[in-house]
Amino acid sequence: MKLCSNCDKAFDHGNWQCPYCLYEPEKIEGHLAFAPELAKQNEGFKSESFSSLAKLEAGNFWFRSRNRLLIWAVQQYFPKAESLLEIGCGTGFVLSGIKEAFPKLILSGGEIHIKGLTFAAERLPGVELFQMDGRRIPFQEEFDVIGAFDVLEHIKEDEEVLSQMYQATRPGGGILMTVPHHTFLWSPVDDFAHHVRRYKTRELREKVNRAGFSVVRLTSFVSFLLPLVALYRFKKRLTGDEGDTKPDYIKMSSLTNSTLERILDGERTMIRTGLSFPVGVSMLLVARRN
Ligand SMILES: [Zn+2]
Repeated sequence: MKLCSNCDKAFDHGNWQCPYCLYEPEKIEGHLAFAPELAKQNEGFKSESFSSLAKLEAGNFWFRSRNRLLIWAVQQYFPKAESLLEIGCGTGFVLSGIKEAFPKLILSGGEIHIKGLTFAAERLPGVELFQMDGRRIPFQEEFDVIGAFDVLEHIKEDEEVLSQMYQATRPGGGILMTVPHHTFLWSPVDDFAHHVRRYKTRELREKVNRAGFSVVRLTSFVSFLLPLVALYRFKKRLTGDEGDTKPDYIKMSSLTNSTLERILDGERTMIRTGLSFPVGVSMLLVARRN
């Protein structure tokens, strides 16, 4: 069901005009805009970052490995899903991976920045993309799976987003998320990325439970690289060289990149067998709506 952004009533017909108050969301650059006031600028992410991100993603070990992990998780935990919405779909890199792996899955992508959708639209012909705010998702019991991949840590009101995700998920469906793990790893890299927080395992679990979901899998990943990442970040802290805030993965040789990708391939093999890592740079969470 669709939810009217003006009067909050649910309705179920083909177009977006609300049958109760006749409100119809505007379009920006061809995309339905549910939070037009936030489309061009907000504090969660810099608009300019999208073009550098779009260039980086396809070749970078982190984005490639995360895609493989997510594709595995969809297959493993939601094999019967027919529809999936990604919140904060950015340039559409994750959705394009999911589309290739599950051509029958009906995909939708929501993103607050219209700039991200411009890139996503090129990558994702046929996928419904719209501008929206995760704190106000215009759907009710609509999707089998809702994903948010490294999105929640950008949003102050993360619990609001989780309860909106709950509302938009069909009973029996669920959510799939990744977030940065461990508050002790906080560094200028997080500031650069406009993170509001990194998560503790317990905090994430409790917030997801409070929204009404049951957690079915929670594991860290990028665990084997944790010592390396911690060392790199602490070294920066100790030497006072904190001015360089570019994420660690941006400046690396292709040999390093492919070595790290192989390490994460090994780690994923272990996650697939059922092993959940207690520590890591990131966390993967799967939860179900009962
Ligand atoms: Zn209405």
